Amino acid sequence: MGKPEKRELEVVRSTRITPHMHRVTLGGEGLAGFPADQESAYIKLIFPRGEEESPLMRTYTIRHQRATEIDVDFVLHEHMGPASGWAASARPGDRILVGGPGAKKLIQPQADWFLLAGDMTALPAISVNLAALPDDARGHAVIEIADPADKQPLVHPDNLQVHWIINPRPDPTGTPLLDKVQGLPWLDGQPAVWAACEFGSMRALRRWLKQTHEVPRSHLYVSSYWKIGQTEDGHKLAKRQDAMAEPAG
Ligand SMILES: Cc1cc2nc3c(=O)[nH]c(=O)nc-3n(C[C@H](O)[C@H](O)[C@H](O)COP(=O)(O)OP(=O)(O)OC[C@H]3O[C@@H](n4cnc5c(N)ncnc54)[C@H](O)[C@@H]3O)c2cc1C
Repeated sequence: MGKPEKRELEVVRSTRITPHMHRVTLGGEGLAGFPADQESAYIKLIFPRGEEESPLMRTYTIRHQRATEIDVDFVLHEHMGPASGWAASARPGDRILVGGPGAKKLIQPQADWFLLAGDMTALPAISVNLAALPDDARGHAVIEIADPADKQPLVHPDNLQVHWIINPRPDPTGTPLLDKVQGLPWLDGQPAVWAACEFGSMRALRRWLKQTHEVPRSHLYVSSYWKIGQTEDGHKLAKRQDAMAEPAG
């Protein structure tokens, strides 16, 4: 996002949807002029820190969009930061500065089959992706959640199987998404792959994909959404270094 347009939005509702996922519905006058059809696009939540320091920013996905509201689903994680902490205690009438929306990164729909993988931070984007796929789409979605009660009802094509994996404590050496994906059949024809998750988990998945399957860039989206032991600012740096060491394609 170059220079994100900033707007002040108002909390309309604040709802715990599963034990580790909290939905904040944002609206109010500030939403006027927000572009339509932005489900799965990202926004930046902006937390000012006074005159001296630049504001903190946190990245989130638009889960649903209605005429006068957007839903944003926040993972409630162990070491809460400004965004998750804000969401957990958000009350109707609270206000928040929001930048964006940034570009949507939907899975390539022109493919013979589909593979989606992600953890709870990507569940909002995966949910939008699955609902947008054609009815006859086939393939797999692998979703890592903290607790069995964090499963959500998802709209998805009948022949696209959803696999939930439970991981209450992500650790830097764990590769639960890769372990599950490796055990699934690699179907015939051109796949489209979409994955977003923790940094280490993303790298393991990307390495395996590169070593074992040829997926053209047009059909591949693999991204990290957070990093164990780093705030979003530290994660951004790690991502930048990773992009230099491992250029796309
Ligand atoms: C394009 C994009 C879209 C995203 N969409 C969403 C979304 O819709 N919903 C969502 O919840 N997240 C989403 N994320 C991830 C989110 O931006 C990060 O998790 C962010 O670090 C959370 O900010 P925070 O203020 O809660 O914690 P921070 O201040 O960034 O970090 C505080 C501590 O919490 C840890 N931490 C951060 N995230 C997690 C986590 N998920 N699990 C366990 N520990 C964590 C950090 O490692 C750090 O130790 C998205 C990220 C990207 C890049």
